[in-house]
Amino acid sequence: MRDTDFFRRWMAATAAAVEREADQLTELDSPIGDADHGSNLLRGFRAVLPALEAEDPAAPGEVLQLAGRTLISTVGGASGPLYGTLLRRTGKALGEAAEVSDAELREALDAGVTAVAQLGGAAPGDKTMLDALVPGVAALGTSYGAAAEAAENGALATVPLLARKGRASYLGERSIGHQDPGATSSALLIRALADVAEPGEGAR
Ligand code: ADP
Ligand code: MG
Repeated sequence: MRDTDFFRRWMAATAAAVEREADQLTELDSPIGDADHGSNLLRGFRAVLPALEAEDPAAPGEVLQLAGRTLISTVGGASGPLYGTLLRRTGKALGEAAEVSDAELREALDAGVTAVAQLGGAAPGDKTMLDALVPGVAALGTSYGAAAEAAENGALATVPLLARKGRASYLGERSIGHQDPGATSSALLIRALADVAEPGEGAR
């Protein structure tokens, strides 16, 4: 079972990954966006940890809902509401239980990813966050490590895709040949989950 502290550690590990990779995320957002994805997520995740500290949520679902609300209120770009929705909807699905099973977490993440698809109107193959999130969450049925790997492969597989949603879609054919920044940061989120769920088994 996964307790509240597990979810705090997941958010802390994600925040650390965003700190480490922010420049790279912004660089990916330069040719097919407006070069702010790293700084958007930095602003958001730098606010998440103090919010968790201040409000001290007592259940896994509440940790994710607070993190999601914080991202929505601090991130200016499209990714704020999208990540915020992912975490809020996942947290809502977990309810108020003090501990959740891996199967419950998987189902909740599935609901979260569905909500992102509804909000943004995107599907896998559109060169968005969903290209990492959908295969990543699907592979949670195998293991956390497999999920992280599937999400990373999904992000890499966005390179040849034509963007159909978000800012990159304005470029049409010129969006081809670049890795999607949101898919890349989504893979960081799933890798952070694997790192806290299966410490010592990381591929990195
Ligand atoms: P903005 O595009 O407003 O500058 P960011 O740069 O922070 O916001 O985030 C860009 C990322 O958001 C893209 O790389 C893409 O993965 C994701 N994204 C944009 N629009 C959508 C959408 N409609 N559905 C899913 N993801 C999207
Ligand atoms: Mg941007």
